Amino acid sequence: MRILITGAAGFLGSHLCRRLLSEDHEIIGMDNFVTGKPDNLVELSGHKNFSFYKHDVSNYIFVPGNIDGVLHFASPASPNPESPTGYFNLPIQTMKAGALGTHNTLGIAKDQHAKFLLASTSEIYGDPQVHPQTEDYAGYVDPVGKRAVYDEAKRFAESLTMAYYRTHEVDTRIVRIFNTYGPNMDLEDGRALPNFLKQALLGQPLTVYGEGNQTRSFCFVDDLIDGIVRLLYSDEHMPVNIGNPDEMTVLEFAETINRIVGSSAGVTFLPNQRSVRDPQKRQPDITRARTILGWEPKISLEEGIQKTIPYFKKKLNIE
Ligand code: NAD
Ligand code: UDP
Repeated sequence: MRILITGAAGFLGSHLCRRLLSEDHEIIGMDNFVTGKPDNLVELSGHKNFSFYKHDVSNYIFVPGNIDGVLHFASPASPNPESPTGYFNLPIQTMKAGALGTHNTLGIAKDQHAKFLLASTSEIYGDPQVHPQTEDYAGYVDPVGKRAVYDEAKRFAESLTMAYYRTHEVDTRIVRIFNTYGPNMDLEDGRALPNFLKQALLGQPLTVYGEGNQTRSFCFVDDLIDGIVRLLYSDEHMPVNIGNPDEMTVLEFAETINRIVGSSAGVTFLPNQRSVRDPQKRQPDITRARTILGWEPKISLEEGIQKTIPYFKKKLNIE
Protein backbone atom coordinates (compact mmCIF):
# COMPACT_ATOMS: atom_id res chain seq x y z
CA MET A 1 0.00 0.00 0.00
CA ARG A 2 0.98 3.66 -0.45
CA ILE A 3 0.14 5.14 2.96
CA LEU A 4 -0.04 8.73 4.24
CA ILE A 5 0.82 8.99 7.96
CA THR A 6 0.17 12.33 9.65
CA GLY A 7 2.12 13.08 12.81
CA ALA A 8 5.04 11.09 11.36
CA ALA A 9 7.68 13.02 13.34
CA GLY A 10 5.95 12.26 16.62
CA PHE A 11 6.49 9.43 19.08
CA LEU A 12 3.87 7.00 17.76
CA GLY A 13 3.93 8.22 14.15
CA SER A 14 7.66 7.51 13.79
CA HIS A 15 7.25 3.94 15.10
CA LEU A 16 4.29 3.35 12.81
CA CYS A 17 6.27 4.55 9.77
CA ARG A 18 9.16 2.23 10.66
CA ARG A 19 6.89 -0.78 11.19
CA LEU A 20 4.96 -0.30 7.93
CA LEU A 21 8.16 0.33 5.94
CA SER A 22 9.41 -3.01 7.26
CA GLU A 23 6.32 -4.60 5.69
CA ASP A 24 7.24 -3.10 2.29
CA HIS A 25 4.60 -0.39 2.19
CA GLU A 26 5.44 3.00 0.71
CA ILE A 27 5.09 5.68 3.38
CA ILE A 28 4.44 9.39 2.95
CA GLY A 29 5.03 11.13 6.28
CA MET A 30 3.50 14.50 7.10
CA ASP A 31 4.11 16.74 10.11
CA ASN A 32 4.44 20.43 11.02
CA PHE A 33 6.77 19.75 14.01
CA VAL A 34 4.49 21.55 16.48
CA THR A 35 5.31 18.84 19.05
CA GLY A 36 7.29 16.28 17.00
CA LYS A 37 11.01 16.25 16.32
CA PRO A 38 12.99 16.08 13.03
CA ASP A 39 15.31 13.69 14.95
CA ASN A 40 12.56 11.07 14.86
CA LEU A 41 12.73 11.13 11.04
CA VAL A 42 16.49 10.57 10.74
CA GLU A 43 16.25 6.77 10.67
CA LEU A 44 13.33 6.90 8.22
CA SER A 45 14.66 9.49 5.80
CA GLY A 46 17.25 7.19 4.26
CA HIS A 47 14.63 4.57 3.36
CA LYS A 48 13.86 4.29 -0.35
CA ASN A 49 10.11 3.94 0.31
CA PHE A 50 9.84 6.97 2.62
CA SER A 51 9.05 10.56 1.65
CA PHE A 52 8.05 13.50 3.81
CA TYR A 53 5.98 16.68 3.60
CA LYS A 54 6.23 19.46 6.19
CA HIS A 55 2.61 20.58 6.33
CA ASP A 56 -0.10 21.58 8.82
CA VAL A 57 -2.96 19.09 8.41
CA SER A 58 -5.46 21.78 9.43
CA ASN A 59 -4.91 23.25 5.96
CA TYR A 60 -5.96 21.60 2.70
CA ILE A 61 -3.72 18.60 1.96
CA PHE A 62 -2.45 17.70 -1.48
CA VAL A 63 -0.28 14.64 -2.05
CA PRO A 64 0.49 13.68 -5.66
CA GLY A 65 -0.26 10.13 -6.82
CA ASN A 66 -2.57 7.41 -5.55
CA ILE A 67 -3.05 6.81 -1.83
CA ASP A 68 -4.25 3.43 -0.46
CA GLY A 69 -4.24 4.28 3.25
CA VAL A 70 -4.45 7.37 5.47
CA LEU A 71 -3.43 7.09 9.15
CA HIS A 72 -4.26 10.29 11.03
CA PHE A 73 -1.97 10.64 14.08
CA ALA A 74 -1.25 14.39 14.00
CA SER A 75 -2.27 16.07 17.26
CA PRO A 76 -0.58 17.46 20.35
CA ALA A 77 -0.96 14.74 22.97
CA SER A 78 0.56 15.73 26.32
CA PRO A 79 -1.80 16.93 29.06
CA ASN A 80 0.92 18.63 31.11
CA PRO A 81 0.06 22.34 31.59
CA GLU A 82 3.72 23.08 32.41
CA SER A 83 4.96 21.88 29.03
CA PRO A 84 4.96 24.32 26.08
CA THR A 85 4.06 21.36 23.84
CA GLY A 86 1.18 20.23 26.05
CA TYR A 87 -2.28 20.68 24.56
CA PHE A 88 -3.32 23.09 27.34
CA ASN A 89 -0.83 25.50 25.76
CA LEU A 90 -1.82 24.67 22.17
CA PRO A 91 -5.61 24.76 22.55
CA ILE A 92 -6.62 26.03 19.11
CA GLN A 93 -4.00 23.96 17.23
CA THR A 94 -5.23 20.87 19.10
CA MET A 95 -8.85 21.46 18.17
CA LYS A 96 -7.92 22.22 14.56
CA ALA A 97 -5.79 19.05 14.23
CA GLY A 98 -8.69 16.96 15.57
CA ALA A 99 -11.45 18.71 13.64
CA LEU A 100 -10.05 20.24 10.42
CA GLY A 101 -7.17 17.76 10.22
CA THR A 102 -9.59 14.83 10.49
CA HIS A 103 -11.87 16.42 7.87
CA ASN A 104 -8.98 16.94 5.44
CA THR A 105 -7.55 13.45 5.91
CA LEU A 106 -10.99 11.82 5.59
CA GLY A 107 -11.44 13.84 2.40
CA ILE A 108 -8.31 12.23 0.93
CA ALA A 109 -9.49 8.75 1.94
CA LYS A 110 -12.88 9.38 0.30
CA ASP A 111 -11.35 10.76 -2.88
CA GLN A 112 -8.76 7.96 -3.15
CA HIS A 113 -11.00 5.09 -1.96
CA ALA A 114 -8.32 4.53 0.68
CA LYS A 115 -8.47 2.88 4.10
CA PHE A 116 -8.58 5.43 6.93
CA LEU A 117 -7.41 4.95 10.52
CA LEU A 118 -7.97 7.55 13.25
CA ALA A 119 -5.71 7.73 16.30
CA SER A 120 -8.23 8.37 19.04
CA THR A 121 -7.61 8.17 22.76
CA SER A 122 -8.73 6.88 26.14
CA GLU A 123 -9.31 10.58 26.92
CA ILE A 124 -12.64 10.36 25.10
CA TYR A 125 -13.84 8.51 28.25
CA GLY A 126 -12.89 11.58 30.34
CA ASP A 127 -12.74 10.90 34.08
CA PRO A 128 -14.50 7.55 33.66
CA GLN A 129 -17.38 6.37 35.80
CA VAL A 130 -17.15 2.86 34.31
CA HIS A 131 -14.08 0.77 35.10
CA PRO A 132 -12.34 -0.78 33.23
CA GLN A 133 -13.37 1.18 30.14
CA THR A 134 -15.26 -0.76 27.48
CA GLU A 135 -15.77 0.71 24.02
CA ASP A 136 -19.54 1.04 24.56
CA TYR A 137 -18.98 3.42 27.51
CA ALA A 138 -19.82 6.94 26.26
CA GLY A 139 -17.57 8.78 28.71
CA TYR A 140 -17.76 11.51 31.34
CA VAL A 141 -16.39 14.75 29.90
CA ASP A 142 -16.84 18.49 30.24
CA PRO A 143 -17.16 20.36 26.93
CA VAL A 144 -15.94 23.64 28.44
CA GLY A 145 -13.23 22.27 30.75
CA LYS A 146 -9.56 22.92 29.93
CA ARG A 147 -9.00 19.32 28.85
CA ALA A 148 -11.89 19.67 26.40
CA VAL A 149 -9.64 21.00 23.65
CA TYR A 150 -8.22 17.49 23.35
CA ASP A 151 -11.14 15.31 24.54
CA GLU A 152 -13.78 17.02 22.46
CA ALA A 153 -11.56 17.32 19.37
CA LYS A 154 -11.03 13.56 19.49
CA ARG A 155 -14.73 12.89 20.16
CA PHE A 156 -15.61 15.07 17.17
CA ALA A 157 -12.95 13.26 15.11
CA GLU A 158 -14.55 9.90 15.98
CA SER A 159 -18.02 11.22 15.07
CA LEU A 160 -16.79 12.59 11.75
CA THR A 161 -15.01 9.32 10.99
CA MET A 162 -18.23 7.37 11.60
CA ALA A 163 -20.17 9.88 9.46
CA TYR A 164 -17.78 9.28 6.53
CA TYR A 165 -18.10 5.53 7.07
CA ARG A 166 -21.90 5.61 7.21
CA THR A 167 -22.52 8.30 4.58
CA HIS A 168 -19.67 7.89 2.09
CA GLU A 169 -18.77 4.27 2.88
CA VAL A 170 -15.14 5.20 3.54
CA ASP A 171 -13.29 2.15 4.87
CA THR A 172 -12.56 3.60 8.34
CA ARG A 173 -11.06 2.37 11.63
CA ILE A 174 -10.79 4.00 15.04
CA VAL A 175 -8.17 3.03 17.62
CA ARG A 176 -8.59 4.30 21.18
CA ILE A 177 -5.02 4.44 22.43
CA PHE A 178 -4.28 4.18 26.17
CA ASN A 179 -1.08 5.49 27.83
CA THR A 180 1.90 4.32 25.80
CA TYR A 181 5.65 4.79 26.32
CA GLY A 182 8.95 3.95 24.65
CA PRO A 183 11.87 5.35 22.66
CA ASN A 184 11.24 8.53 20.58
CA MET A 185 9.09 10.12 23.29
CA ASP A 186 9.83 13.79 23.86
CA LEU A 187 11.70 13.92 27.18
CA GLU A 188 10.30 17.39 27.82
CA ASP A 189 6.62 16.91 27.04
CA GLY A 190 5.71 16.48 30.70
CA ARG A 191 3.95 13.11 30.51
CA ALA A 192 4.46 10.74 33.44
CA LEU A 193 6.94 8.32 31.83
CA PRO A 194 9.32 10.93 30.36
CA ASN A 195 9.28 12.94 33.58
CA PHE A 196 9.81 9.92 35.83
CA LEU A 197 12.42 8.11 33.75
CA LYS A 198 14.43 11.29 33.15
CA GLN A 199 14.29 12.17 36.87
CA ALA A 200 15.30 8.64 37.92
CA LEU A 201 18.25 8.54 35.49
CA LEU A 202 19.42 11.93 36.77
CA GLY A 203 19.13 10.75 40.38
CA GLN A 204 16.36 13.25 41.16
CA PRO A 205 13.18 12.54 43.16
CA LEU A 206 10.19 11.67 40.97
CA THR A 207 7.48 14.35 40.87
CA VAL A 208 4.25 12.57 41.84
CA TYR A 209 1.20 14.81 41.45
CA GLY A 210 -1.29 14.73 44.33
CA GLU A 211 -0.98 11.61 46.46
CA GLY A 212 -0.34 9.45 43.40
CA ASN A 213 -3.52 7.44 43.98
CA GLN A 214 -4.76 7.98 40.43
CA THR A 215 -4.27 4.89 38.28
CA ARG A 216 -2.99 4.31 34.75
CA SER A 217 -2.10 1.28 32.63
CA PHE A 218 1.08 1.70 30.57
CA CYS A 219 1.70 -0.06 27.25
CA PHE A 220 5.07 -0.46 25.53
CA VAL A 221 5.08 1.10 22.07
CA ASP A 222 5.89 -2.10 20.10
CA ASP A 223 2.81 -3.81 21.54
CA LEU A 224 0.64 -0.81 20.70
CA ILE A 225 1.91 -0.55 17.12
CA ASP A 226 1.26 -4.27 16.64
CA GLY A 227 -2.36 -3.78 17.73
CA ILE A 228 -2.80 -0.78 15.42
CA VAL A 229 -1.39 -2.64 12.41
CA ARG A 230 -3.71 -5.59 13.12
CA LEU A 231 -6.64 -3.16 13.23
CA LEU A 232 -5.54 -1.59 9.93
CA TYR A 233 -5.53 -5.02 8.28
CA SER A 234 -8.89 -5.99 9.83
CA ASP A 235 -12.42 -5.15 8.69
CA GLU A 236 -13.47 -3.60 12.02
CA HIS A 237 -15.14 -0.18 11.76
CA MET A 238 -16.21 0.42 15.36
CA PRO A 239 -13.69 1.76 17.92
CA VAL A 240 -11.18 -0.66 19.47
CA ASN A 241 -9.25 -0.03 22.71
CA ILE A 242 -5.54 -0.78 22.45
CA GLY A 243 -3.52 -0.59 25.65
CA ASN A 244 -2.05 -2.65 28.45
CA PRO A 245 -4.60 -3.62 31.12
CA ASP A 246 -1.90 -3.89 33.81
CA GLU A 247 -3.26 -1.08 36.04
CA MET A 248 -1.28 0.57 38.86
CA THR A 249 -1.30 3.79 40.85
CA VAL A 250 0.95 6.61 39.68
CA LEU A 251 2.89 6.21 42.94
CA GLU A 252 3.46 2.49 42.24
CA PHE A 253 4.55 3.41 38.72
CA ALA A 254 7.08 5.93 40.09
CA GLU A 255 8.43 3.44 42.63
CA THR A 256 8.75 0.77 39.92
CA ILE A 257 10.81 3.13 37.75
CA ASN A 258 13.09 4.02 40.68
CA ARG A 259 13.59 0.31 41.39
CA ILE A 260 14.38 -0.59 37.76
CA VAL A 261 16.80 2.33 37.34
CA GLY A 262 18.32 1.73 40.78
CA SER A 263 17.67 5.28 41.98
CA SER A 264 17.37 5.88 45.73
CA ALA A 265 16.18 9.50 45.39
CA GLY A 266 12.56 8.52 46.07
CA VAL A 267 9.57 10.63 45.15
CA THR A 268 8.39 14.15 45.93
CA PHE A 269 4.68 14.91 46.16
CA LEU A 270 3.55 18.05 44.33
CA PRO A 271 0.11 19.63 44.21
CA ASN A 272 -1.70 18.16 41.21
CA GLN A 273 -1.94 21.04 38.75
CA ARG A 274 -4.16 18.82 36.65
CA SER A 275 -6.58 18.23 39.52
CA VAL A 276 -9.42 19.50 37.35
CA ARG A 277 -10.44 16.25 35.73
CA ASP A 278 -7.11 14.45 35.92
CA PRO A 279 -8.75 11.06 35.35
CA GLN A 280 -8.68 9.16 38.64
CA LYS A 281 -8.74 5.70 37.07
CA ARG A 282 -7.82 4.34 33.68
CA GLN A 283 -7.64 0.76 32.47
CA PRO A 284 -8.58 -0.54 29.05
CA ASP A 285 -10.97 -3.44 28.66
CA ILE A 286 -9.29 -5.17 25.70
CA THR A 287 -11.85 -7.92 25.13
CA ARG A 288 -12.65 -6.56 21.66
CA ALA A 289 -8.96 -6.35 20.67
CA ARG A 290 -8.45 -9.92 21.93
CA THR A 291 -11.45 -11.37 20.10
CA ILE A 292 -11.47 -9.33 16.87
CA LEU A 293 -7.73 -8.81 16.35
CA GLY A 294 -6.26 -11.73 18.33
CA TRP A 295 -4.13 -9.08 20.05
CA GLU A 296 -2.89 -8.61 23.57
CA PRO A 297 0.25 -6.94 24.93
CA LYS A 298 3.28 -9.17 25.43
CA ILE A 299 5.89 -6.85 26.93
CA SER A 300 5.98 -6.41 30.71
CA LEU A 301 6.51 -2.99 32.30
CA GLU A 302 9.99 -4.01 33.48
CA GLU A 303 10.99 -5.19 29.99
CA GLY A 304 9.51 -2.10 28.33
CA ILE A 305 11.32 0.30 30.67
CA GLN A 306 14.60 -1.57 30.06
CA LYS A 307 14.06 -1.16 26.29
CA THR A 308 13.37 2.58 26.77
CA ILE A 309 16.36 3.43 28.99
CA PRO A 310 19.07 3.47 26.25
CA TYR A 311 17.13 6.13 24.27
CA PHE A 312 16.73 8.30 27.37
CA LYS A 313 20.41 7.91 28.30
CA LYS A 314 21.44 8.95 24.80
CA LYS A 315 19.23 12.05 24.91
CA LEU A 316 20.53 12.93 28.39
CA ASN A 317 24.16 12.30 27.39
CA ILE A 318 24.73 9.88 30.26
CA GLU A 319 26.42 6.48 30.24
P1 NAD B 1 3.49 13.39 19.56
O1 NAD B 1 3.30 14.80 20.01
O2 NAD B 1 4.82 12.77 19.78
O3 NAD B 1 3.14 13.25 18.02
C1 NAD B 1 2.14 14.01 17.37
C2 NAD B 1 2.72 14.54 16.07
O4 NAD B 1 1.69 15.27 15.37
C3 NAD B 1 3.89 15.50 16.30
O5 NAD B 1 4.98 15.13 15.50
C4 NAD B 1 3.32 16.86 15.89
O6 NAD B 1 4.31 17.75 15.41
C5 NAD B 1 2.29 16.46 14.84
N1 NAD B 1 1.23 17.44 14.64
C6 NAD B 1 0.41 17.99 15.57
N2 NAD B 1 -0.45 18.87 15.00
C7 NAD B 1 -0.16 18.86 13.67
C8 NAD B 1 -0.71 19.52 12.54
N3 NAD B 1 -1.69 20.42 12.66
N4 NAD B 1 -0.19 19.26 11.31
C9 NAD B 1 0.82 18.36 11.15
N5 NAD B 1 1.37 17.70 12.18
C10 NAD B 1 0.90 17.95 13.42
O7 NAD B 1 2.33 12.52 20.24
P2 NAD B 1 2.09 10.95 20.22
O8 NAD B 1 2.13 10.46 21.60
O9 NAD B 1 2.95 10.31 19.19
O10 NAD B 1 0.58 10.89 19.74
C11 NAD B 1 0.24 10.58 18.39
C12 NAD B 1 -1.27 10.40 18.30
O11 NAD B 1 -1.69 9.35 19.15
C13 NAD B 1 -2.05 11.64 18.68
O12 NAD B 1 -3.15 11.80 17.82
C14 NAD B 1 -2.52 11.33 20.10
O13 NAD B 1 -3.74 11.96 20.39
C15 NAD B 1 -2.69 9.82 20.04
N6 NAD B 1 -2.54 9.20 21.37
C16 NAD B 1 -1.31 9.00 21.94
C17 NAD B 1 -1.23 8.41 23.20
C18 NAD B 1 0.09 8.10 23.86
O14 NAD B 1 0.10 7.52 24.96
N7 NAD B 1 1.23 8.42 23.29
C19 NAD B 1 -2.39 8.05 23.89
C20 NAD B 1 -3.62 8.31 23.29
C21 NAD B 1 -3.68 8.86 22.02
N1 UDP C 1 1.90 12.61 36.65
C1 UDP C 1 2.65 12.76 37.81
N2 UDP C 1 3.87 13.36 37.73
C2 UDP C 1 4.39 13.81 36.55
C3 UDP C 1 3.63 13.66 35.36
C4 UDP C 1 2.39 13.05 35.46
O1 UDP C 1 2.22 12.35 38.90
O2 UDP C 1 5.53 14.35 36.57
C5 UDP C 1 0.58 11.95 36.74
C6 UDP C 1 -0.57 12.76 36.13
O3 UDP C 1 -1.16 13.63 37.10
C7 UDP C 1 -1.52 11.68 35.68
C8 UDP C 1 -0.62 10.47 35.37
O4 UDP C 1 0.65 10.77 35.95
O5 UDP C 1 -2.39 11.32 36.72
C9 UDP C 1 -0.41 10.20 33.88
O6 UDP C 1 -0.05 11.41 33.25
P1 UDP C 1 0.38 11.50 31.72
O7 UDP C 1 0.84 12.91 31.50
O8 UDP C 1 1.37 10.46 31.38
O9 UDP C 1 -0.90 11.24 30.84
P2 UDP C 1 -2.50 11.17 31.08
O10 UDP C 1 -2.77 9.76 31.45
O11 UDP C 1 -2.91 12.11 32.17
O12 UDP C 1 -3.08 11.52 29.76
